[in-house]
Amino acid sequence: MAIQLVWFKRDLRINDHAPLALAARTGPCIGLYVYEHELIEAEDCDAAHLRFVNESLAELRSNLRRLGGELILRSGRLPDVFEQIHEQLVISKIWAHEETFNHISYQRDRRVRRWAKKSGIPVEEIPQFGVVRRLEDRDGWSRQCAGRMKQDVVLPPKKITLPPRLKSLPQGEIHRSSQFKVRSFRRGEVQTGGEQNALDCLGSFLHSRGVNYRADMSSPVTGEQGCSRLSPCIAYGNISMRTINHHLNARVAELKEAKKSGVKVEPTWLKSLSSFRSRLSWHCHFMQKMEDEPTIEFENFNRAYDGLRESKFNGEYYQAWCDGRTGYPMVDACMRALHQTGWINFRMRAMLVSFASYHLWLHWRQPALYLARLFLDYEPGIHYSQIQMQSGVTGINAIRIYSPIKQVADQDPQGLFIRRYVPELLDVPDKHLAEPHKMTGMEQSFYGCQIGTDYPAPIVDHKSRYRLARDRMHAHKGLPETRAISAEVYKKHGSRKRPAHQRNR
Ligand SMILES: Cc1cc2nc3c(=O)[nH]c(=O)nc-3n(C[C@H](O)[C@H](O)[C@H](O)COP(=O)(O)OP(=O)(O)OC[C@H]3O[C@@H](n4cnc5c(N)ncnc54)[C@H](O)[C@@H]3O)c2cc1C
Repeated sequence: MAIQLVWFKRDLRINDHAPLALAARTGPCIGLYVYEHELIEAEDCDAAHLRFVNESLAELRSNLRRLGGELILRSGRLPDVFEQIHEQLVISKIWAHEETFNHISYQRDRRVRRWAKKSGIPVEEIPQFGVVRRLEDRDGWSRQCAGRMKQDVVLPPKKITLPPRLKSLPQGEIHRSSQFKVRSFRRGEVQTGGEQNALDCLGSFLHSRGVNYRADMSSPVTGEQGCSRLSPCIAYGNISMRTINHHLNARVAELKEAKKSGVKVEPTWLKSLSSFRSRLSWHCHFMQKMEDEPTIEFENFNRAYDGLRESKFNGEYYQAWCDGRTGYPMVDACMRALHQTGWINFRMRAMLVSFASYHLWLHWRQPALYLARLFLDYEPGIHYSQIQMQSGVTGINAIRIYSPIKQVADQDPQGLFIRRYVPELLDVPDKHLAEPHKMTGMEQSFYGCQIGTDYPAPIVDHKSRYRLARDRMHAHKGLPETRAISAEVYKKHGSRKRPAHQRNR
């Protein structure tokens, strides 16, 4: 008997999973997840990603079994794995979500489509985000995206029928990272994968943690709990964007209703949830850029910036940045926090990239790969768009150079975050925390922190590097060629939300 094959990728859930629901309705079906060596062993993958996937797979398998189904686990290359299964069970149709990931997945999808066509097997790919395939024009895109978010969520199938000959097919085990040549950073308290964890995370955010989101999100101290922390759950598809939007709408309606009926509601709630809604919409906005122009993984959005930094890559600066040893405590604390937890808030991500790109004048590609491995929520569509934006090479975004000194005063004035991740500075008073190298020799002895021995002296001078970068960037941005290409970049990728007079800046 021919089977319906549900190919799980970065959509590890049973709720709001249209391919699963449709396949189960069509006939006997099985789920398949393939550990693809080429993806796992790539430069942008880390063992922590695999761990999150495995936690998600364990729960997905048990959820599918509860419904009468099964999840087959395999490792290898695609479409070879499909071919092997087809030989044993005869695949009638492959059901999957559309995926916008990296260059490797893009090439793999092309191979799968070619093989499926040759084998006469239809492949049904269903969108799971607001990302539109083969989009012709950005005008009107946000309406399409919003329309998808409003659709009803798809319920999981009540029952899954397994094909009778399934017993002849080994189910396959969870693969540990030791089975792959995967890069690995030592990690502390990273988030755990799985659909239930994602729902719990959303619930605690919408009902308690998110109350001061608008104020909390910028600081690494308050952002840790005050941000939703949904990003890895979204990246691996433990929860769908639509589900998040529906829960958000319900919570907003509940709060408004409570207010109307005279129940005391924290005044910050509704504003915070409105900010959260706009952040959520950025997800698909950035993913759409990657869908429309996959080369942004490797090349500048605006090719007029080619050659700006390529020849000046300083390996020592790069290593100090990677190790969290630049001599700027906010930069170092963020990098070390990432090593421990795999997460940091938006502003600190932007500051890390700004420091690498402007102060250290590093081309974005190597830092992007390093951060991809560190971020548990690595999502290329967002990642490369943001990295390029924070490096100033899109031509359509304001050039923003973060001061690693001002960020201490603004976001961690009591040094809670810095002292947690840079213990060398534990006894250094608040007033010296942003620039400990400015302490006198005697102060360094008093506070047990010898600059150059216990903690590095700054690898570059902030002020002069800031000025140099600012002048170089503004000069380049003003060139006629840059401006001409920027106009094209805007047409293809720019957000249509800003008024016309602010565009292209
Ligand atoms: C250099 C750089 C690289 C980044 N790389 C990634 C990445 O690989 N994966 C990733 O998910 N996010 C990335 N971001 C965006 C953002 O920092 C994270 O989405 C956010 O910090 C995740 O935490 P959260 O889920 O608590 O976010 P919240 O603030 O609670 O936001 C909720 C959700 O909205 C979306 N969102 C929020 N901010 C942004 C944004 N600026 N752009 C796009 N979507 C957004 C995410 O899906 C996020 O999970 C990057 C930002 C920068 C500056």
